[in-house]
Amino acid sequence: MLDKLTYAADFARAEAMLAGSRLPATGTGFDVHRLVPGKPLWLCGVEVAHEIGLSGHSDADVAIHALVDALLGALAEGDIGSHFPPSDPRWKGASSDRFLAFARDRVSARGGTITHVDLTIICEAPKIGPHRDAMRERLAELLAIPVTRVSVKATTTEQLGYTGRKEGIAAQAVATVLLPQL
Ligand code: MG
Repeated sequence: MLDKLTYAADFARAEAMLAGSRLPATGTGFDVHRLVPGKPLWLCGVEVAHEIGLSGHSDADVAIHALVDALLGALAEGDIGSHFPPSDPRWKGASSDRFLAFARDRVSARGGTITHVDLTIICEAPKIGPHRDAMRERLAELLAIPVTRVSVKATTTEQLGYTGRKEGIAAQAVATVLLPQL
């Protein structure tokens, strides 16, 4: 019996109890945006200093977009484009933070918990390593989960293809959530 939640261990125990009546669901997401001059570069909710940035209807945060699709995928609730159509002027220049907050809130509304997210950013430049911790912290803050449950990785395509030619940045994500059994 848990009468109050004070310490991290209390929350872990409460989650374990709740997990008994819930099942894990996994979603994946993938996105690509074009690199262009004269745009800021937003990745994982962090502005990265770089000579070129990503173009798109919103702030073009390709990593967050992939993550939103992963969360929506775990819920089987469509994709980012179905909830935030690029044709809608409300999302022009919008911070992708709000898309991620929406997906987080959908998980809560379904009685779910975000167990873990894992992102891979695919690009030749910039180097992601120096920004990894800031990105993990920002995503953890937006998702309201501990940073230990947020993974950010990066890879190149060995100078092959559109990411290799630095024409764009791709991102893929996996999200695991616990959902009540129906
Ligand atoms: Mg996108």
